[in-house]
Amino acid sequence: MTALAPAPANLPRLKRILLKLSGEVLMGNQSFGIDTDFVASLAAEVKAAKETGLELCLVIGGGNIFRGMAGAAKGMDRAQADYMGMLATIMNALAMQSALEKLGVDTRVQSAIQMDAVCEPVIRRRAERHLAKGRVVIFAAGVGAPYFTTDSGAALRAAELQCDALFKGTSVDGVYNADPKKDAAARRYDTIDYDTVLADNLQVMDASAVALCRDNAIPIVVFSIREQGNLARVLAGQGTQTIVRKDS
Ligand code: UDP
Repeated sequence: MTALAPAPANLPRLKRILLKLSGEVLMGNQSFGIDTDFVASLAAEVKAAKETGLELCLVIGGGNIFRGMAGAAKGMDRAQADYMGMLATIMNALAMQSALEKLGVDTRVQSAIQMDAVCEPVIRRRAERHLAKGRVVIFAAGVGAPYFTTDSGAALRAAELQCDALFKGTSVDGVYNADPKKDAAARRYDTIDYDTVLADNLQVMDASAVALCRDNAIPIVVFSIREQGNLARVLAGQGTQTIVRKDS
């Protein structure tokens, strides 16, 4: 039986989580692409989280390589550009798989766009088996459809795999009432409810992802993955984060 990991205050104890990393995180200090050293340090954090006894699902975005909206803004067909974005997420998933396996962490990549030569398709029951065997399952290609994002993919996989929480690792340490980079008076919420996030259009995840988490009562833990060791601190209840949940 898997041991229960400690959890941040305001959260139930966690057995299984989904960790969503935006593609930009994989750039490290670069302005584009994949910084393999930084991915290795992220993989070490994931390994440490797993060693607390958690079952771990991972979703990685593609913004470090290609975003459909950016292609569309330059005149590309939006759906075509979105498929390119989804392919970017598969590259990121493979980079993370490689980094994790170097550290001896068993992983499987499951993609919502079938790509049999490089990874498995998304099969929920198979993902369950992998998790039960202690493997980290990395879900790629979002929901597999254009006009969505990997945030929605993360919320969808968190719901179908019945994750206890969705951890969103980004470059800020939570949700603020204004942009902390522009407004020195911006205040970080410790907890906030889904409906306020949606009504105030706070930049947590896209609205469909927040709504899916709300409808399935999945808490969203927003934290910074930029500082080393932060995932472990947040999981141990010693970090800085915002928790989006019902009735804050
Ligand atoms: N994408 C998509 N459908 C999905 C997931 C992703 O069309 O279900 C495309 C979309 O173009 C998006 C890109 O893949 O811009 C990269 O994903 P995302 O923007 O979510 O990456 P992140 O911002 O997390 O790095």
